[in-house]
Amino acid sequence: MKKIGIFTVCVLSITILNAQNLREASMLRKFNLKSIESVIDERGRKVDKETKALRMNQNEYFESDETEASEITLSYLQAKQDVYGLSSNLNDIKVAKIQKSPSGEYVYCQQYLNDIPVYATNFIVYVNKEGIVKYTLNEFRNIDKYGNIGSKSSITNNDALKIAHKYLDIEDVNGEPKTELVYFESMDEGLELAWKIDLRAWRIFVSAETGRIIHAGDARVPATGSGKVFIPNPLVSANVPYGGNYVHNYGATNPYLDAELKTVPLNDLTVENSVYKLKGPYCVIEDVKLFGYNIPESSTGNFYYTRDQDEFKSVMCYYHVDSSARRILELGYWDSGLNSLRVDPQGEYADRNAYYRDTYNYLSFGFETYDYVDAAEDADVIWHEYGHAIQWNLGSANAENYENYIQMRAVLEGSADYWSTSYKRPLYPNNWAARTLWFCMDDYTPRRTDLNWIFPQDFFPTTPCHHIEQPCGHCAGQIWSSALMKIWGDLGRDITDQLFLEAHLIWGQSPAMWSAADAFMRADFHLYDGIHLCQIYDSFQKHGLIDPSQIVKTTNFTNETVPFKKLVFSCSDLNVQGVTVTSYYATLTLNAVGDINVQNVTVTNNATLILKAAGNIDIQDMDVINNSKLILDAAGEVNIIRNFEVELGSELDIR
Ligand SMILES: [Zn+2]
Repeated sequence: MKKIGIFTVCVLSITILNAQNLREASMLRKFNLKSIESVIDERGRKVDKETKALRMNQNEYFESDETEASEITLSYLQAKQDVYGLSSNLNDIKVAKIQKSPSGEYVYCQQYLNDIPVYATNFIVYVNKEGIVKYTLNEFRNIDKYGNIGSKSSITNNDALKIAHKYLDIEDVNGEPKTELVYFESMDEGLELAWKIDLRAWRIFVSAETGRIIHAGDARVPATGSGKVFIPNPLVSANVPYGGNYVHNYGATNPYLDAELKTVPLNDLTVENSVYKLKGPYCVIEDVKLFGYNIPESSTGNFYYTRDQDEFKSVMCYYHVDSSARRILELGYWDSGLNSLRVDPQGEYADRNAYYRDTYNYLSFGFETYDYVDAAEDADVIWHEYGHAIQWNLGSANAENYENYIQMRAVLEGSADYWSTSYKRPLYPNNWAARTLWFCMDDYTPRRTDLNWIFPQDFFPTTPCHHIEQPCGHCAGQIWSSALMKIWGDLGRDITDQLFLEAHLIWGQSPAMWSAADAFMRADFHLYDGIHLCQIYDSFQKHGLIDPSQIVKTTNFTNETVPFKKLVFSCSDLNVQGVTVTSYYATLTLNAVGDINVQNVTVTNNATLILKAAGNIDIQDMDVINNSKLILDAAGEVNIIRNFEVELGSELDIR
């Protein structure tokens, strides 16, 4: 009702398209979708705030007899319905889509009631390439509490469409509007039957009972603009040291600095009222901290500024955050937390630093323009901060515990440095290792990603580092980033980036130096069957990042009793002799680039032994007893030479 007065004045004299342009789209938006709330329970699990149903499981290991990912998922959910609070016959679930990743398949399910979809519901089951469920995310809604909500609409879809037209003040539409009956859980009235209407750039929900507008979402018209940015900063692209014409000079520009500006496309900008805005699917530039900072807009789509202008920092942030996000997508990963990530290009007054603010999920960059280069003028800083957003959203590294705190900081800071360096290295193959040169000017020692530092002896470095905190996670993180960049040199950007992102999904909430390296190696098993293990191991070994109690590289693994999880591998043949694998539910994996020769080995007490050889597996004198399991995975032949016993109740699996 509220805006009709303004409208009736204009509507007769202008076209329908312009009519909508005249109104600020945000005035029509109505956000009313109830959010799904979870808490961490006493066992450290993410559970629903109300029902305590499990919301996420990062440590799942579920095998089934099925082969298709969708079938595996359904048999999994059948087995675990109680844990997740699902209905016993699964009539509230349908597989909505299956997304393939390089490491396996992600099965997305939608929640249903009375055979009608419940809007904004999602259950992800990750099935790896071996058909094993390893991860779940439960975003189903607690709808039982609403009792039985009817499934018959009192309003037809045509009437609902008319209501939506009236709300938007549109008489006619180009293209077919789409309508669908759904259940919608609103903040004000709970679960209700609704018509979901996709109309132009709008998505409107109209109550199928009363005809009220429940929710009206986002009108975004994506368009490509153009901007000028540093890639990553003028010192690296000009390949010069700080000094001469390449100096801060109280924030002024000059022809030398201007010459380092690159013209780039700005993808998927929002156009509202014929004005281009730096708002896209992966980045929204905002004055979050309310310093009254001017966010640039453009009537042409061109955002051309020089470094002396405040607006330049917005363009830098939009381009580099958007590029960083697209890189993740290109590698087959994503998390919805990274959608429309808010970025404040001048969010920290008089602070020579930049932050990812986890509580509110946005990036914020410091500015002290007169004396120092602003943080958002150096893309090394922007990619680094985005690296933190990846950690928080894609992974779950957010629990700082006392013992691990500094190690975890080192892993996270080193990872953020890796992410920015991996972007820069192919562009400047001879000039990539020193970081944030422009931001540091000539009064900070920049961090590097090509050091030969070793953990733990260099963990508390004496070499100067501009960060004043002691002990210094940023400084110690150079061990981790340097090890990863060494792997990058061996495997290239794509594979290393993929392993890097996959490791985020694996390492849990408090990665330490050794456990992060372990997760990175495990990522290679998930993605590549461990074929890069020897190269990865060598880099980590050089930097002291291998936990010797967990990972052993040898050609002779003999006379051992293995009490817990351990990875043993050989970069040639592997002789295994006199080994007993005996721990409840432990898994020992033996890997060889060549053959594996097994002699006098016992697997007992529910343990699992996996033998994986690029060549043959030869076995003599081996017992698999007491509900244990042996998995033989040879690219060549499996040869039983003598005395091989698998006791009743134990299991043998030859792949
Ligand atoms: Zn950082």
